[in-house]
Amino acid sequence: RAKGEGGGVHFEYEPSLHAIAEESRQLEFSLRNALENDELTLHYQPVVDANSEAVVSFEALVRWNSKEHGFVSPGKFIPIAEDTRLIVPIGTWIMNEACREAATHWPEHVKVNVNVSPEQLLEPDFAGTVVRALSHSGLAAHRLEIEVTESIFLRDAGIVRKALEQCIALGCSVALDDFGTGYSSLGYLRKLDFTTIKVDRTFVQGAGQNSPESLAIIRAVVAMADSLDMTTTAEGVENEEEAELIRRLGCTKIQGYHFGRPMPASDARKIFARDQRQTA
Ligand code: C2E
Ligand code: MG
Ligand code: MG
Ligand code: MG
Repeated sequence: RAKGEGGGVHFEYEPSLHAIAEESRQLEFSLRNALENDELTLHYQPVVDANSEAVVSFEALVRWNSKEHGFVSPGKFIPIAEDTRLIVPIGTWIMNEACREAATHWPEHVKVNVNVSPEQLLEPDFAGTVVRALSHSGLAAHRLEIEVTESIFLRDAGIVRKALEQCIALGCSVALDDFGTGYSSLGYLRKLDFTTIKVDRTFVQGAGQNSPESLAIIRAVVAMADSLDMTTTAEGVENEEEAELIRRLGCTKIQGYHFGRPMPASDARKIFARDQRQTA
C-alpha cells in the first residue's frame, strides 16, 4: 500500500495492471508470427439436430499452440487479435481452412460454422474473402454459416450490414451467436436476415438448474425465432437432462460437450465414417 499523501489506490493497482499489459504485449508479439509458424489449428465441434441427433454442422474453433506461451485460449488471444487487427489475416486463414476441410472431407449435407469478428466485417472486401474461400475450396455457399455476435451492431452498422448482406446474396447463412449476453436489443433481429439464433450457454445451464428466468428467456427466444422464421441452436448442453429440456423447449439444434467437444479435424472426419457404418 502506498504511504503518504493520496494516490494509495493508484500505487496498489499499478503493478498488476502493468503485468496484464506486459503479458498481452508479449502475446501480441508472438501472435504476429503465429500464422507463419503454423501455430494455429482449427478444432471442430458438432452441432446436432435436436430431435434426430444427427450432425448437421460443425463449428470451427481456432486453437493457438504457441512456442513461447504454450496453449493460449481463444478467450485470451481473440480480443488481442481484434485490438491489433491481426484478426483480419488470421480470420482469412480460418475461413479458407474451414471451407477447405468441409468441402474435402465432409458429406454434402453437413455445414460449417465460422466465427467472424466485427473487425473482419469492416474490411472493405470481406465478401471477396468469402467468395475466394468458397471458390478455392469448391464449397457450396449454402454450406457456410457465418457466426457474428451482437457487438457488430455497435460498429459502423452500414458497412457491417452490407458485408453480411453480400454473403447472404451469395447463399451463405448468418447466425447470431451468444444471444442474450450482449446488448440484446430485439431490434437487432430485424436488421439482418439471420438464419439462426444461438442461445448462449448461460441460459441453457441456468435452465438446467431450474432458473425460472433462464427458462422464460429460452421460451421467448424460441417463440420469437419461430415467428421470424429463424432456427435456434442451444449452446453448451453438457448432459442428457439439459438436452431433454432443450428439446422440450423447442430449440432446433443443440451444441455442447454432451454431443461432442471441439475436436481435431481428423477426429471430426471419423464421425462420418462411423455414421456411415451405422446406416449401412
Ligand atoms: P463461441 O463462438 O460462442 O464458441 C463456443 C464456445 O463454447 C467454444 O469455446 C466452445 O469450446 C465452448 N463450448 C462448447 N460446448 C460447451 C459446453 O458444453 N460447455 C462449456 N462450458 N463450453 C462449451 P472456445 O473454443 O474457447 O471459444 C471461445 C470463443 O472464442 C468463441 O465463442 C468465439 O467467440 C471465439 N472464437 C473461437 N474461435 C474463433 C474463430 O475462429 N474466429 C473468431 N473470430 N472467434 C473465435
Ligand atoms: Mg460461435
Ligand atoms: Mg456462442
Ligand atoms: Mg459463447
